[in-house]
Amino acid sequence: MSTIATNIAKVGARIREAAQTAGRDPSTVSLLAVSKTQPASAVREAFEAGQRDFGENYLQEALDKQTALADLPLTWHFIGPIQSNKTRPIAEHFDWVHSVDRLKIAERLSAQRPDTLAPLNVCLQVNVSGEASKSGCAPEEVANLARQVAALPRLRLRGLMAIPAPTDDPDEQRAAFARLRSLRDELALPLDTLSMGMSQDLDMAIAESATWVRIGTALFGARDYGARP
Ligand SMILES: *Cc1c(COP(=O)(O)O)cnc(C)c1O
Repeated sequence: MSTIATNIAKVGARIREAAQTAGRDPSTVSLLAVSKTQPASAVREAFEAGQRDFGENYLQEALDKQTALADLPLTWHFIGPIQSNKTRPIAEHFDWVHSVDRLKIAERLSAQRPDTLAPLNVCLQVNVSGEASKSGCAPEEVANLARQVAALPRLRLRGLMAIPAPTDDPDEQRAAFARLRSLRDELALPLDTLSMGMSQDLDMAIAESATWVRIGTALFGARDYGARP
């Protein structure tokens, strides 16, 4: 087995174990392979090991990879910060966007989503770590934003996403995931998605009901930003 295939199997085992420990059905947790900075060949290798969902943060890099991998039936997720002048290619070339944090971006994605494609799946990114993080809408704004985004015709609001500030304190880490979960539970909307947990903390995110864990390093190894295509 290739290194990537071995890593996919290891992460899969970690996901199953965390789900079982939490009394959850492991099939309710999905693995999003975060392929930013990784070459198309690494994505192809992951595909051959059975992986279908890939997350990218940088638009041009993602579009280049999609072109190189157009022969594969992959599902692409945009998970990076979104500038408003970049919404059209995101609406045209992705199946999911995890990082919607303001209405203007959501309105543009909805208006620009081609009619030939299914509605774009979106999550609202929430800043659950206060001052320590700049991305994401404030927890107090989520209810309002969710109501407005849910009404947009070409988007399908699926749930919430967070990137909690890194911390060595496991209680604090878990509390951040718990905050995202309770924000989701408080919304009077049928949301099935919590996108949270990365290589370091996926186990705790699963204990707090994550449905997508976004994993880069544990699958592909350390990132080399200098080598970005
Ligand atoms: C890079 C990135 C990840 C993956 O992080 P790892 O620690 O490498 O698993 C997950 N989510 C987002 C939003 C990222 O930018």
